[in-house]
Amino acid sequence: MNDTKYLNVINKKITYLPKNKRKYQNIKYNFEKILNYKEYKKIIQKLNLSKYIKVAIIGKSIDQRNVYSLEIGNGENIILFDAGTHAREVANPLFLLKYCIDLINKLEKKQKELNNIKLIIVPLVNPDGYDAVLFGPKSINNKKLHIYKKRNLINFNTYKANSNGVDINRNFPSQHSGLHYRKYLSQNVSYKPSLGYEDFYSGYQLGSEEETQALIYLFNKYIYNIKVYITLHSAGRLIYSGKPNLSNVFNNNSLKLAKYISKINNYLIYDKNEEEVGNGTDGTSTDYLSELASGFKFSTITGRLSADSYKAPNIKNAHNIGIVTLETLEDITFNIKKIKAEYYNKKFEKLFNKIIELYYI
Ligand SMILES: [Zn+2]
Repeated sequence: MNDTKYLNVINKKITYLPKNKRKYQNIKYNFEKILNYKEYKKIIQKLNLSKYIKVAIIGKSIDQRNVYSLEIGNGENIILFDAGTHAREVANPLFLLKYCIDLINKLEKKQKELNNIKLIIVPLVNPDGYDAVLFGPKSINNKKLHIYKKRNLINFNTYKANSNGVDINRNFPSQHSGLHYRKYLSQNVSYKPSLGYEDFYSGYQLGSEEETQALIYLFNKYIYNIKVYITLHSAGRLIYSGKPNLSNVFNNNSLKLAKYISKINNYLIYDKNEEEVGNGTDGTSTDYLSELASGFKFSTITGRLSADSYKAPNIKNAHNIGIVTLETLEDITFNIKKIKAEYYNKKFEKLFNKIIELYYI
């Protein structure tokens, strides 16, 4: 992306949902069903009635759905969660929403307090993909979009991309996004919009997608306050932590966070040695935020983040930050019973609470 566009993204004005005088009422949701976007939106509007939450619209999806961020607590240290970047991974948006509902219910009843931290949750980064995978392409409003036009060719059971067929998690302008300099190119790399067969298309330009830009905005706004970033995906109960191109301090912090999580849910940890750089599949949200936190700056020449010098990168940590990708579930599933079972069996409420407690002191 060019620098004008980049500056527009990080300086954009966002809106918070207005507060009205209606009283908050206890919300009930216990995985009775998979919610569609409209139902999800309704719950967020109900959550907004609580004085303990601020709801921002940090962007609009390509098909004009809201990308919400939910802010709970007023502390300086920020714990950031997101989910639903990949369309088919429908469990995690429900996990985060369920957690928010229970948390706000408890705060309202004074059964819980939050000190010193601000929780920021983006439950659904890719709402178009989410609706299309669950409820079919007819749920897309703009019939000119790739996801609708190619509906007869797309495999919606495995579709990960947004309405333009772009894998948002390959679209971030990190230093190595889309670059290929290893011996082999990942077989998943694709140069055209996704049809849902493990074909990762990173877009016509880095940072091109509205959903990507919503997160770029958030990351930049809070870069000096974010202490933990956990992005939820679903690929078999794993925790990815670490980046081979970044500092030991960064990698140790992230590994520490991964171990802390694994102690609770027994997910397998992958450290920096399992992470691939330069096989064409970079450009994830964790690549981007890790580099931003390590002091990388946007280069007007390359249109992406860059270390100070290519020859001898001077990579310092901006601050202590732990970043992991949390891959939930054994397999991708649209079965609400299985989704509910994972939430309870793997103790997600406890897990999220414990992560918040990390920063109480
Ligand atoms: Zn994913």
